[in-house]
Amino acid sequence: MEWSALVLLLVLLPPPPCASDDRLLVGKPLSPGTTIVSDDGGFALGFFSPANSSSTPANLYLGIWYADIPTLTPVWVANRGAPATNTTSSTSNLALSDATGRILWSTNVTVSGEVTGGNVSGSYAVLLNTGNLVIRSANGTALWQSFEHPTDTFLPGMKIRVVYSTRAAERLVSWTSPDDPSPGRFSYGVDTFTSLQLFLWNGTVPIMRDGPWTGYSVASRYQPNASAFVYQAIVSTDEEIYLTYTLSDGAPRARYVVTGSGEYRFQSWNATLSSWAVLGVWPASDCNRYGHCGAFGYCDNTAAAPSPATCRCLEGFEPADGDEWNHGVFSAGCRRKEAVRCTDGYFAPLTGMKSPDKFVHVANRTQDECRVECANNCSCVAYAYANLSTTRTTGDVTRCLVWAGDLIDTEKMGDIVGSDTLYLRLAGLNNAPVQGKSNALRIALPTVLATTALIITGIFLAWFKFKGKRRNSKGHNTKSSLVATSTSDDLPEGSPAQDFEFPFIKFEEIETATANFSEAYKIGQGGFGKVYKAILGGREVAIKRLSKDSDQGTEEFRNEVILIAKLQHRNLVQLLGCSVEGGEKILIYEYLPNRSLDAILFDNSRKVLLDWPARFNIIKGVARGLLYLHQDSRLTIVHRDLKAANVLLDAEMRPKIADFGMARIFNDNQINANTRRVVGTYGYMAPEYAMEGVFSIKSDVYSFGVLILELVTGIRRSSFNKIKGFPNLTIYAWNMWKEGKGKDLVDPSIVDTCSLDEVLLCSHMALLCAQENPDDRPLMSSIVFSLENGSTTMPTPSNPGHYGQGSSDMEQIRDRTDTSMNSLTLTNLEGR
Ligand code: ATP
Repeated sequence: MEWSALVLLLVLLPPPPCASDDRLLVGKPLSPGTTIVSDDGGFALGFFSPANSSSTPANLYLGIWYADIPTLTPVWVANRGAPATNTTSSTSNLALSDATGRILWSTNVTVSGEVTGGNVSGSYAVLLNTGNLVIRSANGTALWQSFEHPTDTFLPGMKIRVVYSTRAAERLVSWTSPDDPSPGRFSYGVDTFTSLQLFLWNGTVPIMRDGPWTGYSVASRYQPNASAFVYQAIVSTDEEIYLTYTLSDGAPRARYVVTGSGEYRFQSWNATLSSWAVLGVWPASDCNRYGHCGAFGYCDNTAAAPSPATCRCLEGFEPADGDEWNHGVFSAGCRRKEAVRCTDGYFAPLTGMKSPDKFVHVANRTQDECRVECANNCSCVAYAYANLSTTRTTGDVTRCLVWAGDLIDTEKMGDIVGSDTLYLRLAGLNNAPVQGKSNALRIALPTVLATTALIITGIFLAWFKFKGKRRNSKGHNTKSSLVATSTSDDLPEGSPAQDFEFPFIKFEEIETATANFSEAYKIGQGGFGKVYKAILGGREVAIKRLSKDSDQGTEEFRNEVILIAKLQHRNLVQLLGCSVEGGEKILIYEYLPNRSLDAILFDNSRKVLLDWPARFNIIKGVARGLLYLHQDSRLTIVHRDLKAANVLLDAEMRPKIADFGMARIFNDNQINANTRRVVGTYGYMAPEYAMEGVFSIKSDVYSFGVLILELVTGIRRSSFNKIKGFPNLTIYAWNMWKEGKGKDLVDPSIVDTCSLDEVLLCSHMALLCAQENPDDRPLMSSIVFSLENGSTTMPTPSNPGHYGQGSSDMEQIRDRTDTSMNSLTLTNLEGR
């Protein structure tokens, strides 16, 4: 008889006698109370209930634990988010399901086996002496292994890795609590953006970071309390990079674990005391916590430093707030004692450092070229170089890191394995820019400033030429009557364009990277042109090529280049460079693998990818990005076109706000502005903006409210048909809320994963944001506070603002061609 899919059985009800050795065979099910044990007796696979579990009947988990120590210590759990009870039964594949056929857990591996005359042959699962459960085909090939699906424990021989091509990463994820193995908030793994660093995260917030990999292959550490060595290795091949470790012979049982309280621990079994000894805990002190010492501060963790470790300012810097610093509050960080001018300065070598975070990795540079890369860019503050020649890769083994912003999370480790020499730019000796020898791509940082200046002049000339033409053709006055400081004319002091330095990429390099803008590289089409995915400078990027044959978009292009080049926030899409040769207008952004939010949220087959925790994180991330635009950057920026299509998602569904083509900078004291050119999207536009052209940070808040409602309900803001009988989403939500049916707003596809408190908090907040009177809408700072800290006392929302809508759900771009507040003339209409 041929078996496929239904072969390796894990059964939860009265079993036949179980397998007694290290294998799980076709037709020989495993049941509660029975185990399979690794050949050396070290590990067992079976069903367990967490020690203090209070649930009745007890929650059952399929897991692996140490068979040779008396304290139940699970090191791997199969169905961690889907406990079973002993009233359920029946299974399939290497899968766990209950009597009704509900799958609780599965390897998703199709295996086959044969039963001939009562004997079984074919695929089988074996528990190895390392604690790794492996499913093998009949010929011994590993089809699946638990080591590639870690839970909270890192065992010797396991790998924590990133696959370069897919950015797929394995992370350790804490238990929710000691009696609940479901995935908790804390995780540990390789940063998929750089593939060079390890992080401990609380959700998406870093708690602790190991510095960028310096190329060592094995670092050994002696653990006197365990009389053992721990050998930690980093292995990089053409396909992947991973961290692994082993223990010296005779070492007691040991493991790393991410705890439910947010620590990364190294534990070793003490047989005499019959308990786990904690031999290492990270972060080891506050000083170790991510970013604790502020910008340009560092944690002195050397043996010579006072204990506990303390914060200091980097050479050439002093505390930004001396009082606070002396009282042990380091968050303000440090500031330069003396400004560095572009034409002078030198690089001070700081040895024994953990290099800071937020670097750009420039490919294919020698050490000298790396220095040139930094020296020739006025905004470069430091560089660090390493040779990764221990890798098994056949390609580039250089590691040139450059920093252009604040230096965050730096540490002095002493001259030990894994430390870097950080070359820090300081005022002083003449160090005029050096001409770079390499022709290689300058995506990371601009180099030849003279060329840059020429190109910038070119853009501006082209822009003014274009603008003159356009104004004339449209009969506009050359003097703008805009109240808002438009980036097109008089830029305020200190605006990004004033100290504009920006990477310009050669058009031919973009042509090569996209195989001459081949359709094969195309990933999207926006209102102003096509978007391609390509690799530039060793990094995946999204390339937006504005249509040449249309004047549309030139203003947006210019706005985007000037405005967001200098904005840096984890929830804003990063603009990496641009190209303006031969009439081309090209923008290059970091690539976000999950593309735009609307494409997932409103697609019935994909929306399940966004469970409630993911949606709540998106709401909070977008809120933080907007807060930065409105309050926390050097400028007050109104986005003006916030919508689900302009929120892009990274590999882990973290949101980044995109499309700054319509954004406007406000002066310090400016509250709102009035524009002739009403640009935005129906349904997201605040009524005062759509009807009167008045925009402010509160019109962004309105759009944010609509976006929250879309995330909660999974319904587009408006559609051809009414929403459940109401003219639009805001009014529908408002009516449900008034009738006390707020909980019924939730998208049916996420009810299983949603927290009612969070959903109600978000819906309430959305309705506050969408109120008719802009003054009643909250500021982003209080929105972020409430979303992060749970509901405080929030006012009752008043009527939502809305305005009449045209018959179709289309992107609208409108110009108000006279000064009358009510005269709106449609000049451009583009279908989505
Ligand atoms: P419009 O230009 O009218 O605002 P849009 O926002 O959809 O429309 P684009 O910003 O040009 O247009 O993007 C088109 C598509 O390209 C997006 O929907 C998205 O799928 C993809 N895209 C854009 N930028 C990126 C990026 N940085 N990473 C990944 N995909 C992207």
